Amino acid sequence: GATIGVLGGGQLGRMMALAGSAMGYRFVALDPAEDAPAGQVGDQIVADYDDRTAARELARRSDVITYEFENVDADVAAMLMSESYVPQGSELLYTTQHRLREKRAIEAAGVRVAPYAEIRSADELREAVRRFGLPCVLKTATGGYDGKGQWVIRDEAEIARAYETLGTAGTELVLEQFIKFDKELSVIAARSPQGEIKAFPVAENIHVDNILHLSIVPARVPTDTLKEAERLAIRIAEGLGAVGLIAVELFWSASDGLYVNELAPRPHNSGHYTMEACRTSQFEQHVRAVCNLPLGDTALLTPVVMVNVLGEHVAPLIDHLADRDRAAQAEQFNVAPKLHLYGKSEIINKRKMGHVNVLASDTEAALAWISETNIWRV
Ligand code: ATP
Ligand code: MG
Ligand code: MG
Repeated sequence: GATIGVLGGGQLGRMMALAGSAMGYRFVALDPAEDAPAGQVGDQIVADYDDRTAARELARRSDVITYEFENVDADVAAMLMSESYVPQGSELLYTTQHRLREKRAIEAAGVRVAPYAEIRSADELREAVRRFGLPCVLKTATGGYDGKGQWVIRDEAEIARAYETLGTAGTELVLEQFIKFDKELSVIAARSPQGEIKAFPVAENIHVDNILHLSIVPARVPTDTLKEAERLAIRIAEGLGAVGLIAVELFWSASDGLYVNELAPRPHNSGHYTMEACRTSQFEQHVRAVCNLPLGDTALLTPVVMVNVLGEHVAPLIDHLADRDRAAQAEQFNVAPKLHLYGKSEIINKRKMGHVNVLASDTEAALAWISETNIWRV
C-alpha cells in the first residue's frame, strides 16, 4: 500500500495513522520526541520539524505528505513539494500560521472576524483600545495555542504591561475586540484536490482554562445558526483553496450572529467526536482528501459529548470505567462512553492524555454521565 508521511507525531498524527492504517496505508511520522504517539502506530523519523535532511528522508519514504500541526515550518513544506506529493501545499500553512494573514484571508473569503488591528507600538495599542472599547484581547500573531500568547485587557491601566509582556515574544501583535459570545462553535470541513467539500456537524465547545473541555453535538443553537456556520466553513475552505481538513472556530452571539475566531488546517480537538458519532471520522476524511479518494459521508449517527482527559483525570477515569456496576448502569441508560488514550508515556497534570466520546440518546444524558463521574470538577 501507499505510505503517508506526516510532519508531526502527536496525538492527531496518531489518530490519523490509526484511521489510515485500517484503510491499508502505511505511516511514517517526523517528530523530535522519541516516544511520539504517532510513532507507536507507524514508523517514525526522530528529528526536529525543521531538519531538512530528515524532511528529505520523509519525502523519500512517502508517496504523499501531510502535517498534523500548523507550526510546521512552511518553508520545509514548500521544499517538500519539489521532493514529494504535498496536496495541501504550503500556502494554507503560511496563511494560518499568522493571525493577521489568517484574518485577511477569512475576510477575503467574505466571512466576518472580530474587529482587529495590527499593533506595532504601545501608542497604537492605546489608540486601538480606545476605538474598540474594553475588554479587548491582545494576541501574538504567531505561535499561540491553548490561550498562550494572549492577554485580555480589561482596564486601561493594563495596556503598558500587556504590550511589554507580549511584545517580548518577538512576533507581531494583533488586538481583537472582545466578542461577548453566547456559545463557541466549530465546524470542520474537508476539501479534496478536485474541490469536493464536505462539512461535519457543528460542535458546541466549552473551554476550561483555555483548553477545550467539552464538545457537544448537536450544538445547542438555532437550526439557522447551524446552517450558517456550515456555510461559512465551506466558503472558507473554498476561498482559501484548502485541501484536507480545515477547522473553523466561531463565536456566536444570539443578538449579533457569528464571527470566525481562528482556523486550523488539520484535524482538530473539537472533531474527536466524529470518531464514533459520524459515518466518517475527521481522520479518515483527512486521509481520503489527501489521498484523492471521494470524501466520506459526514452524517451524525448519534448525539455525543466529547470530554477531554488531562493527566489528573486518567486514574479516576480508569477506575470509573473499570466499575462493572457503573458500566451496566450507563448501558441501561443508553450511554456509551468510548475511551481514547493517546499513548503518552508520562502522565502530567494539565497535559492532554486522551478523550472520551460519550454517545447517548441525547446530549443531556451524556452531560449527566460526565457530571456524575465527579472526575471533571467544573
Ligand atoms: P487554540 O488552542 O484553540 O489554538 P489559541 O491559543 O489559538 O487557542 P484562541 O482560540 O484565539 O487561542 O483564543 C482562546 C480562547 O479565548 C477562545 O476559545 C475564546 O474562549 C477566548 N477568546 C479569544 N479571542 C476572543 C475574542 N476576540 N473575544 C472573546 N473571547 C475570545
Ligand atoms: Mg489557535
Ligand atoms: Mg482557538
